[in-house]
Amino acid sequence: MKAVHEIELATRVLNTVRQIATEHGARVLEVNLRVGEINEPNSLQLWLNKLGGDEFNSTKFNISRVPITIKCRCGYVGNASSIDTHIPEPELGIPCPKCGGHELSLTSGQELEIVDVKLEKKEVRECRTKKSR
Ligand SMILES: [Zn+2]
Repeated sequence: MKAVHEIELATRVLNTVRQIATEHGARVLEVNLRVGEINEPNSLQLWLNKLGGDEFNSTKFNISRVPITIKCRCGYVGNASSIDTHIPEPELGIPCPKCGGHELSLTSGQELEIVDVKLEKKEVRECRTKKSR
């Protein structure tokens, strides 16, 4: 179980949220995130709660999950739902469902975006803090 990645992502999200809260001088009620399956949304959620501690204990983190899709050299493009078994680097670990090859690239599933943040007073839109490469 490799959690370092999720801790790093959670920290990044929390830093951004903290910055928004400071800028607006308001408490953050809700954060809506889009998280690709490769970033382990469940684990990320846990770390957000854990690392958020008292500072964010009244903040709700809503995660909408983005499925992993892959593109293979053989031309296969599609879902790779069979791999959501928490392989840290699916792009290395999974074979193409069509040809069995490993020359895949991810077309989605790497997202980590803060879609919006709901503050005590107003709403802020913060799109694509990190572009998915
Ligand atoms: Zn293939």
